[in-house]
Amino acid sequence: MLRLSDLTLPLDHAPADLDRAVCDRLGLQPAELERLTVVRRGNDARRKNAIRLVYTLDLVLADEEAVLARQAGDAHLRRTPDTGYRFVTRAPADYAGPRPVVIGAGPCGLLAALVLAQMGLRPIIVERGKAVRERTKDTWGLWRRSVLDPESNVQFGEGGAGTFSDGKLYSRIKDPRHLGRKVLTEFVKAGAPEDILTEAHPHIGTFRLVTMVMSMREAIEKLGGEYRFGTRVDDFEIAQDSDGERRLVGLHLSNGEFLPASHVVMAVGHSARDTFQVLYDRGVHVEAKPFAIGVRIEHPQSWIDVARYGPHAGNAILGPAAYAISHQASNGRTVYSFCMCPGGRVVAATSEEGRVVTNGMSQYSRAEFNANSGLVVDITPERDFPGHPLAGVALQRKFEELAFVAGGSNYKAPGQKLGDFLADRPSSEFGVVTPSYQPGVHLTDLKACLPDYAIDAIREALPVFGRQVPGYDHPDVVMTGVETRTSSPVRITRGRDFQSLNTRGLYPAGEGAGYAGGILSAAVDGIRVAEALALELVPAATVQ
Ligand code: FAD
Repeated sequence: MLRLSDLTLPLDHAPADLDRAVCDRLGLQPAELERLTVVRRGNDARRKNAIRLVYTLDLVLADEEAVLARQAGDAHLRRTPDTGYRFVTRAPADYAGPRPVVIGAGPCGLLAALVLAQMGLRPIIVERGKAVRERTKDTWGLWRRSVLDPESNVQFGEGGAGTFSDGKLYSRIKDPRHLGRKVLTEFVKAGAPEDILTEAHPHIGTFRLVTMVMSMREAIEKLGGEYRFGTRVDDFEIAQDSDGERRLVGLHLSNGEFLPASHVVMAVGHSARDTFQVLYDRGVHVEAKPFAIGVRIEHPQSWIDVARYGPHAGNAILGPAAYAISHQASNGRTVYSFCMCPGGRVVAATSEEGRVVTNGMSQYSRAEFNANSGLVVDITPERDFPGHPLAGVALQRKFEELAFVAGGSNYKAPGQKLGDFLADRPSSEFGVVTPSYQPGVHLTDLKACLPDYAIDAIREALPVFGRQVPGYDHPDVVMTGVETRTSSPVRITRGRDFQSLNTRGLYPAGEGAGYAGGILSAAVDGIRVAEALALELVPAATVQ
């Protein structure tokens, strides 16, 4: 099979045009093209009046060797890579060694647990939050009734932080082993829409994520895995082994139980601040890392569609438009759009009482009225929170508390119209844009809950973004704060063997450990860590 990439056709092309375009491009007679499969479809909307679809295709041809030889200089034609997943090892049927423990059932922990279970290692999954159905009720409790459950919310519970999200599944990670494909394939098996395998910018949406997570749990349990919901890991028992190295020997759980554990995937996500503290207290190597801080910004989706697609706005093939923009501000800060959710809503994403955090989500249809995205500014430990590995957590908490107060101390988000933000005056009434955040937006001055450097940089960036995406800087556009959980404020550093730098048996993984940013990269990291752990337990690999 051959893979042909970068084949472009007009937006409104007929299905048969694809075969014809392949034949034209490769100089084939129609009979020589035996089968064609779409591997990826994206679009090139740089020229709004002539938007083109961009295909990557797998082709079965009558004489592939001859075509390869004839097209030797064509960088877009090659043999189809083998993207199949192979287990690095497998436990024998009578395996009686230690069972791995996975802390956290987010995308990283889920994929780690699934792969460990598939290798026959019967993992135990410890998750502080509730199973996803019950968790959904608690999450909506904050949005509808302003009642926060600190252990069951947008950040904590089965499925992890990405469950109530847009479910965007793309990432810029290097992935030479095609582990992303393994993740997407498992997601489809668990009920995700099949188009995630072919869309250039796939997404799942909240409702499907919920059922998908349940179905993955079933698969893990069938393979001998075991879940413990509502069970938080409160402490780590670390001993000195015979050669003087620190080694993890077990976990103290919130129900009072001590769980002996020698091989633990720690996939706790970026909001497990209490767990970061315990790790630090127990001497596990933790360091501060950069993240970003800012606001959510909301526009009517139709404005973004027109700005991106011009006369093709609303086209069903293109779907609701997205954007990704950035600006280097004169104060040295990079301002950029983050986690853009077309046709979605801004959500209350705090996991701690007395704090307000924004984020975004959407359904598969992306049919809600507004588009939203984070509008954030990069911050670094050296410049903004020096001196302590957990100083980034303190900084997040400070601005989340200020946002809680600025919003009225009742979980409403503080908000401001863009025109007022630029003019440095508080907002008092909404204009043509109605914000979607629940339990509500309290109009005020966002200065009260953002650092000065972020305000300056965002003020400078808004008109620039308005030139790139017309309408972006309309004075009635609403911004809500604060966006602080853009990524982990810490790295729980690991070595080449994927274990903590100074604690053997502890495998820091995913976003919380600073090794991923987003659902797909966290899930891929989960697989990589699970493989390293499995090879420690079953080193004599029987690769199949
Ligand atoms: P998490 O998903 O955070 O999972 C960690 C899990 O560990 C949680 O379930 C938590 O309860 C559990 N846990 C924590 N501490 C303990 C403990 N001590 N004991 C037991 N369990 C513990 N990313 C995208 O790629 N696309 C998107 O569209 C997208 N949208 C998002 C929308 C929202 C509202 C949010 C909040 C995030 C979004 N993200 C999105 C980011 C994405 O969700 C994260 O990058 C991803 O979930 C990280 O995966 P993870 O498994 O590393 O951690």
